[in-house]
Amino acid sequence: MSADGAGKFGNCCEVLKDVLESDDFEPLIAEDDDGILYMSIGMVDPEKEEDPNMVDHPVFFCPFCGSKLQTPEEVDAKGKA
Ligand SMILES: [Zn+2]
Repeated sequence: MSADGAGKFGNCCEVLKDVLESDDFEPLIAEDDDGILYMSIGMVDPEKEEDPNMVDHPVFFCPFCGSKLQTPEEVDAKGKA
């Protein structure tokens, strides 16, 4: 277990940890290359879009245990890098 806690999600509870580390399914919650945790909230209307895509939104609180994972400021800062 890493103790530094920086830039790593899944330390708050076993459920989120399992989701992020699972090889059994494609999770709708994932950390992107910038270190921001995103949740897929829906799909762009496939009848209007030629290339249907999942719509993502940053996750600020763990949906399973309610722990604060990141702040809008952190997401902004990382997203600009
Ligand atoms: Zn959690």
